Amino acid sequence: MNGLALINLSYVFAAVLFILGLKMLSSPATARRGNLFSSLGMLIAIVATLLGEGIVEFQWIALGFIVGGMVGALAARLIAMTAMPEMVALFNGFGGLASLLVGSSALYLTPVESGFTLATIALAILIGGLTFTGSVIAWGKLSEIISGRPVLFSGQRIVNGLLLVVIVGATVLFCLNPSNADYLYVVIGLSFLLGVMVVIPIGGADMPVVISLLNSYSGLAACAAGFAINNIILIVAGSLVGASGIILTNIMCKAMNRSLGNVLFSGFGAAAGSDTTIEGEVKAMSPEDAFYVLEAASSVVIVPGYGMAVAQAQHVVKELQELLEANDAEVVYAVHPVAGRMPGHMNVLLAEADVPYELLLEMDAVNPRMETFDVAIVLGANDVVNSAAREIEDSPIYGMPIINVDYARTVFVLKRSMASGFAGVDNPLFFKENTRMIFGDGKETISQIIREFSN
Ligand code: NDP
Repeated sequence: MNGLALINLSYVFAAVLFILGLKMLSSPATARRGNLFSSLGMLIAIVATLLGEGIVEFQWIALGFIVGGMVGALAARLIAMTAMPEMVALFNGFGGLASLLVGSSALYLTPVESGFTLATIALAILIGGLTFTGSVIAWGKLSEIISGRPVLFSGQRIVNGLLLVVIVGATVLFCLNPSNADYLYVVIGLSFLLGVMVVIPIGGADMPVVISLLNSYSGLAACAAGFAINNIILIVAGSLVGASGIILTNIMCKAMNRSLGNVLFSGFGAAAGSDTTIEGEVKAMSPEDAFYVLEAASSVVIVPGYGMAVAQAQHVVKELQELLEANDAEVVYAVHPVAGRMPGHMNVLLAEADVPYELLLEMDAVNPRMETFDVAIVLGANDVVNSAAREIEDSPIYGMPIINVDYARTVFVLKRSMASGFAGVDNPLFFKENTRMIFGDGKETISQIIREFSN
């Protein structure tokens, strides 16, 4: 078998590992192994690529490997768990930038004559560029460095449309005159601008959709770069990321009850700001009193949200779950698809605390039986249990499916204040007859309840 055939065979093997890995990632029980399979696939792909004839300089690769490896290791160690979503958004962006660089490097390898290759180079640059700047904006919004609110101005769609027309025009001119680098610079510059323009109008509760969409774009950019440099494994890996990102985007749109077009073009909450005043009285409760209610409960549903990640309350909540179970109560967790700040955020945290997967119920499974629960504990969740989505027609989140905790007999809301969640929308749940607010850090409150159990 010659070298090229061996490399291609390794690529096929790596692709099989990627696909198996992805399949395993779809269930929490096999996700860890799935990650391992995909990493092994990537290792094989990298080694096979390094053995190829196209490698010009090993020194630069080694330098990139050392610097990149150090940055990655430091980021993994130093970034707080709560900042993980921002880091994932930023890494998406770097994926796009890498594809832009790989795509443009194809021009310098050999004189490119094929129109198809030129078009894929332009596509890698366009999608990679907009993924990069779009992800930087998403990172800024998630880390609250810039406002999370949508930025809208009149004629925005016309400006974006014009931008796209100029990019397509410059791409065509570049394909016709590949030796003139000016057209390419126009595509690069405008794709950076387009990334900013498409993400600024998106904000509030719509952010999960844009995060998964950018993830998909980073895959598509890699796929285009794969065609540009004629590398099979880059094409396969890019299409897998692109396709899974689109599936995730679809899941997120369904979780928000919105269409993709509506998310991309309408601007979250821009059209309607609610004038409805919320009526009712806020009733606070101490963790000690909450203990007496929980001690008498025979079924409890725990609804985690972003605040659980902030408080790092996943371990203590597992402890509380065990105490309640020992007290003969049934305990389940209800996880909303967009809870937290990245897809699967709550599942990851609960898995870290060894909460059994079978106790994690999806919104559609738990809502029909919500009336049967004695107590619903809302642990640092807000938007995903915001009853304005059901009750207030002019609310920006009206129509978004939520976990109907207010249908449980008693609701405990564990948070530090009356502040709104990521979407910035007031929550009528806090004023309901059967709701008790337990103010304080989520971990501290749960720990206090646990202490009461052991007294
Ligand atoms: P929210 O952001 O709606 O609410 C979180 C709540 O946690 C806050 O109201 C805050 O209230 C409370 N909190 C913060 N720190 C603590 C603490 N230490 N202890 C106790 N409570 C705390 O979170 P949800 O999970 O309900 O909803 C997620 C939102 O994020 C949705 O709008 C979603 O669209 C959006 N989003 C989701 C992404 C995803 O992929 N999942 C990505 C990007 C955005 P207080 O300050 O009073 O304590």
